[in-house]
Amino acid sequence: MLERLNEEKVFKDPVHRYIHVRYRLIWDLIGTKEFQRLRRVRQLGTTYLTFHGAEHSRFSHSLGVYEIVRRINEIFSQYEGWDEKNRLLSMCAALLHDVGHGPFSHSFEKVFNLDHEDFTRMVILGDTEINKVLRRVSDDFPLQVADVIAKTHDNKLVVSLISSQIDADRMDYLLRDAYFTGVSYGQFDIERILRVMRPGDDQIVIKQSGMHAVEDYIMSRYQMYWQIYFHPVTRSAEVILSKILHRAKVLFEQGYHFQHDPIHFYSLFKENISLEDFLKLDDSVVMFYFQIWQEEQDHILSDLCERFMNRRLFKYIEFNPMQQMNAWRELHDSFHEAGIDPDYYLVVDSSSDLPYDFYRPGEEEERLPIHLLKPGGDLRELSRESDVVEAISGKKRTDHKLYFPADFILEGNTDATRRIKSLLQID
Ligand code: ZN
Repeated sequence: MLERLNEEKVFKDPVHRYIHVRYRLIWDLIGTKEFQRLRRVRQLGTTYLTFHGAEHSRFSHSLGVYEIVRRINEIFSQYEGWDEKNRLLSMCAALLHDVGHGPFSHSFEKVFNLDHEDFTRMVILGDTEINKVLRRVSDDFPLQVADVIAKTHDNKLVVSLISSQIDADRMDYLLRDAYFTGVSYGQFDIERILRVMRPGDDQIVIKQSGMHAVEDYIMSRYQMYWQIYFHPVTRSAEVILSKILHRAKVLFEQGYHFQHDPIHFYSLFKENISLEDFLKLDDSVVMFYFQIWQEEQDHILSDLCERFMNRRLFKYIEFNPMQQMNAWRELHDSFHEAGIDPDYYLVVDSSSDLPYDFYRPGEEEERLPIHLLKPGGDLRELSRESDVVEAISGKKRTDHKLYFPADFILEGNTDATRRIKSLLQID
């Protein structure tokens, strides 16, 4: 079942140094066109407009997650019950866990009602090269891989390698995103964590002696969310991107005549995209349309595209419309009066993160906590042992910002723009 390559193949990788491939199955999956497409999808969407190094792809991240799982497998294979079937299943799921991500997933999913998890399932189960390679193992193997990724597979230990509060996915993206953005806070000692991981009954557990390495990992996650993933400038670019897609969709629905037919977007606009059409989308296709839409007749579409391409982003202030209802209404009216469409140019964006949580049944997202393995064999939930983790456990932080084009407002010299200036406190 697990045919080995005559000679091990390696990929040079800046995070793990080398990615090792020993099985023909893994090598062939990497060679499929659906997997190669991930080279053309940036891992961090619009983040490159804030941190210019963040040009790395979902391809490199997917290989990285595979490599971490491969190394965990090396450790686990010394334990009874961890057989070749688990090894194969976990490595394939690691490699393919993000294969349904499109370009700028976050904005596309919101505007066109998509879900990358659905597409991941379709790529694995549908009529694709990936499906053909997986079926060489057995007819039900693609379904097993899809179930591990969807977290519905019976083998919870295998699921926990790919998605839990300390999984290979997070470990790779924290290290990789820190490396490519050039920041120092995403770092933690992955060597140490891998060394103290053990297979528990239904999830990974960490030897008590590795607690401080895990604390470091939790803190690095906490910092990366606020310093990188929710960076207000990145969110500004994301807001503009969403509004471009939204505007193009509205124009399409109104029967607007585009100078260049956006054929790649038709089925998205109609919200009935097929897998085949979805797989044709990548960052370069999206950027192509943004480039040519700068010359469209529609002023809103051309202005937003020009802003995105030339990084003339929206400015922002802290603003929570729920607490500032009157100001929010007044801003809305004044934008209308000034001739600046608030549907596209006055946008509230909120981010929130929960760095770590212990198990709370019935919560919106039930999270499997991290368990420490005591020397006697007992398990203890991490926040009960670690003061550092306890301090941030269950603490959800939310942040609301209001985005707007300061240049438009500063140019204006009417009552409405003067009112907007004083409400937004810009001059
Ligand atoms: Zn991932």
